[in-house]
Amino acid sequence: MIVMKFGGSSVESAKAIQRVASIVEKELDRNPVVVVSAMGKTTDRLLSIAQMCAAGKREYAFWELMRLREFHGREASACLGSMGPAKRLDQALCRHFEELEQLLNLVAEEKALTPVRSDAVLSFGERLSSLIVTAALQHRDIDAVHLDARAAIITDDHHTCAVPRFVETNALLRRRVSREKVTVMGGFIGSTEDGVTTTLGRGGSDYSAAIAGAALAAEEIQIWTDVDGILTCDPRVVPAAHCLKGVSYIEAEQMARAGARVLHPATVLPAIRQRIPIVIRNSRNEFAAGTRITGDCARTCEGEVLSIACKAGMTLMHVRPPHMHVNSEFGRTIWEILQESGITFELISPAMREFSLVVESAALTPEFLTRLGSLAETEIENGRALITLIGRNATRNTLNVVRASQRLAPLNCGAMLTCCTDSRFAFIVDTKSLEPAANALHEEFFSHPDPATFVRNRYISAPVKVTGRESTVPATVLRATPALR
Ligand code: ADP
Ligand code: ASP
Ligand code: MG
Repeated sequence: MIVMKFGGSSVESAKAIQRVASIVEKELDRNPVVVVSAMGKTTDRLLSIAQMCAAGKREYAFWELMRLREFHGREASACLGSMGPAKRLDQALCRHFEELEQLLNLVAEEKALTPVRSDAVLSFGERLSSLIVTAALQHRDIDAVHLDARAAIITDDHHTCAVPRFVETNALLRRRVSREKVTVMGGFIGSTEDGVTTTLGRGGSDYSAAIAGAALAAEEIQIWTDVDGILTCDPRVVPAAHCLKGVSYIEAEQMARAGARVLHPATVLPAIRQRIPIVIRNSRNEFAAGTRITGDCARTCEGEVLSIACKAGMTLMHVRPPHMHVNSEFGRTIWEILQESGITFELISPAMREFSLVVESAALTPEFLTRLGSLAETEIENGRALITLIGRNATRNTLNVVRASQRLAPLNCGAMLTCCTDSRFAFIVDTKSLEPAANALHEEFFSHPDPATFVRNRYISAPVKVTGRESTVPATVLRATPALR
């Protein structure tokens, strides 16, 4: 058995879903279980509709809802045509949109989008896409069955980032997933023991796939997305990024935590326990072998930087105890507040009078800042980004840190070396310098990628002739899209 997870861009349209069906068809003899994300940007759209309802902009929200309904209806009928199954699917989609409309009416009436309601609204993305993909597979004569993931993935009631209850979930998945047919389920969603809908956190469909893979002792977990695999950097920031052939679970997890969105950070854990390989593949480029995440890391990678991860939207906070030096008591109190508020942070080496932290700006709620302000003097510097360099024992090889620091020095990007562990070190830079800094670091470490470890970027692999001289100017003009989620 294998688990095949298809992300939002892989199911963004009827054409993309047909590509998915053909990919699944080729794996039928490996008994695939299919996990799908919401179509395209549906989750973002649902969230914004719900927020508009809560903000009293009901009319605009319902107009957006109508467009979302049209989009799903149009792509579904482009998958199936107008036969009997298409009508049945259309009726099922209609029922879902009616339920969603009722829920949004409640949000609009009470002007309140609670975490429980937010989960309920966002769940529709995966509920709809999984129905459409099931029907599209059946239309291709694949023996597919739909499973409502909420009946199999049981979680706690931590709405918007629920934690799976593995004992119940594993038992249900083993009972409900067919060994003869292709089971299709939505990622990202689950439910509490009382049947209340929950979600696993944004980008959580990868995690759902790993949960299913581990429960079913799958031989492989495939994550199909819109890039060739795990790259040396986000191609939206560094268009010249190369693809890693393989990487160990530990490094993949660190890359994901440091901001490599291609994989949800929690995905690795269920797989690691049973040593199930995770393979990242491109649904638009099946010819690329992808990145294989396993327990091994090639010996040649020891001490090398393997990837650069970027996180925009960060804040640098300097926290000082009033009228005294930093001591362990003060450190513990601040740590407890951060923990209780669910804020993850990177610590920059503490000094006598203060210590500094890097946190995601979005996590700094007014409640948290008020609580912190009652205990400490806090200075806040917004508009920062974190660039993390990752590789097994990459920091132990101190030359890496020296090369990176020297490369950033002339850029005047406010670069400051922050957290270091054996396998990662990071710089905080001004957000506007993120792109030049990441590209400079990429050039420093990856201008001659080792073919044993990387697949060279296909757009820059072919040198082109420029006025009679050999040049490595990209054959295609590549543009960085600054939009980082
Ligand atoms: P999906 O919808 O398939 O889950 P995501 O948008 O969540 O896809 O993840 C894929 C995106 O991750 C890519 O388009 C790319 O911009 C981004 N990304 C960030 N860092 C990396 C990296 N190191 N390697 C590959 N992609 C990355
Ligand atoms: N649809 C969800 C999101 O956009 C989950 C996922 O795509 O993995 O966050
Ligand atoms: Mg994703």
